[in-house]
Amino acid sequence: MNPKIWLSSPHMGGTEQHYIKEAFDTNWIAPLGPNVTGFENDLQKYLNEEVHVACLSSGTAAIHLALVQLGVGLNDEVICQSMTFSASANPIKYQGATPVFIDSEKESWNMCPIHLERAIKDRIKKGTKPKAIIVVHLYGMPAKMDEIKAISKEYNIPLVEDAAEALGSTYKGRKCGTFGDFSILSFNGNKIITTSGGGAMVCNTKDKKDNTIFLATQARDQAPHYEHSQVGYNYRMSNVSAGIGRGQMEVLDKHVNLRREMNAFYKTIFKDIEGVTVLGESNTEVFSNHWLSCILINERAPFTREALYDNMLLANIETRPLWKPMHLQPVFQEAPYYGANISETLFNTGLCLPSGSNLVHDDLNRITKVINRLIQG
Ligand SMILES: *Cc1c(COP(=O)(O)O)cnc(C)c1O
Repeated sequence: MNPKIWLSSPHMGGTEQHYIKEAFDTNWIAPLGPNVTGFENDLQKYLNEEVHVACLSSGTAAIHLALVQLGVGLNDEVICQSMTFSASANPIKYQGATPVFIDSEKESWNMCPIHLERAIKDRIKKGTKPKAIIVVHLYGMPAKMDEIKAISKEYNIPLVEDAAEALGSTYKGRKCGTFGDFSILSFNGNKIITTSGGGAMVCNTKDKKDNTIFLATQARDQAPHYEHSQVGYNYRMSNVSAGIGRGQMEVLDKHVNLRREMNAFYKTIFKDIEGVTVLGESNTEVFSNHWLSCILINERAPFTREALYDNMLLANIETRPLWKPMHLQPVFQEAPYYGANISETLFNTGLCLPSGSNLVHDDLNRITKVINRLIQG
């Protein structure tokens, strides 16, 4: 059996162990320490805006602390993109609030500004103004940020930007992860860079960063003993994980380019194939890290999505249907939804293909062989 080709697997650059060794040598194994500060500084420099970064234990923890700081509580409503990973929406439930899901638009597959505004008006009419809007840059493709930011501003509803999949992507030259009232990143094992597990909150003020760290470290008030006047969390990143992150930052741009080459590879393979389209940038104002390359397969294609999935599986190559929209998930079946079945159609016809920055020539040959065999029938 050939070795497994994954959708997206960790890709070390080589210097990660140097930072970890330093942590061991200086006995900074306990949480916090110089790697955490170093990684936060690296991220701030990379994002290239007036941002303040707090490293946390996961992207999910970052979304949770964003909602906590926005005052989301029992019976509140929070607007969320429907087509996303469940981690975007679960923290709404942690706070006892209700998600209101919004359909995708066809260009970026992200939150549709038209349905967003329709939902806000309708929720206000029904008597509950949503407390926050969670927008996602799915698969690294930037959402329509001008339109969404304008709506957030007009209705005065704060924006949480889930950039878990979009580190290295830009919208009109500005880095994804710098658009929200709170923005979040993930360094989970399958993301564009990894710390084995981890995330970050990107804040637009130092106060928000300080408060994020306060909440993430059990909300200890100033006192010689342990004094608490708020509920705290144990969400800070460890100094060992942050060491991996520092090494990964050295290869981030290189890995973004390699993922973009994977996308170009699929565009070439499917160039003349009717009924198959590769998700790509719809205009020159967006730049995607192409975290995952995805295709849509319609009935004119020479093969079905299921056939492609099955044949890849037989060749020990991982593929996966697109994210199943949250409004179709049993766990969220009670939640309101505003849309026109775009995300359903995407889910029913889309497939994610192996996209890692560590795929080699031999891997690409194996992928090409399976696809060509199907094309030739
Ligand atoms: C991975 C991911 C998250 C959660 O990040 P973790 O670090 O795994 O908690 C949130 N949103 C999206 C869109 C993701 O892909």
